Amino acid sequence: MKILIVEDETKTADYLRQGLTEAGFAVDLARNGIDGLHFALSESYDLAILDVMLPGQDGWSVLAGIRRSGKDMPVMFLTARDAVDDRVKGLELGADDYLVKPFAFAELLARVRTLLRRGSKSSTPEFLRLADLELDLLRRRVFRAGKRIDLTAKEFALLELLLRRQGEVLPRSLIASQVWDMNFDSDTNVIEVAMRRLRAKVDDDFQPKLIQTVRGMGYVLENQSCID
Ligand code: CA
Repeated sequence: MKILIVEDETKTADYLRQGLTEAGFAVDLARNGIDGLHFALSESYDLAILDVMLPGQDGWSVLAGIRRSGKDMPVMFLTARDAVDDRVKGLELGADDYLVKPFAFAELLARVRTLLRRGSKSSTPEFLRLADLELDLLRRRVFRAGKRIDLTAKEFALLELLLRRQGEVLPRSLIASQVWDMNFDSDTNVIEVAMRRLRAKVDDDFQPKLIQTVRGMGYVLENQSCID
């Protein structure tokens, strides 16, 4: 799941980005309102977290621009001000939640999950499944045959991508750009190493094997025992 953060204060922005990344979310960060609105309109996000006071264009007008474009992703406001007026204004403009700074990260994360659960009814699923493999997107947990599997944030993102596009051969370059946010360098074996670790956790002790290597092409997640 992908979250957009629009926050100009470096400390808060980095703290949020790191925390949400460690919680297993893909995160884009914009440091002013103009970039924030541009990101919101050109990419697809499951949630946006907007600061109110931003250079260029304030949080209100970013939200107005998002809603004008017809995007209905949940939006949470962050602000240092606890004025009732602000809260009313945000809610009138179509904000879904409001958090006053300073806040505890645990509270932000709990609210993020609530918003994603609410938003997921219409657009995104809460679970991704193949055979007896299940990924819980909101609680960031993975189970195979009912057994909990511990994954790192990267392994989780990798498995999420494979599950979302199951049955599709994913080239290494696509995996690199979606999971590592980097341009593919053919010298690196980062993907092979991560894939080996993921397989050891998800496939080694189970049948059928779900992660398949397609030589010279990439990887596919598929239950081949179901294919005639
Ligand atoms: Ca600010």
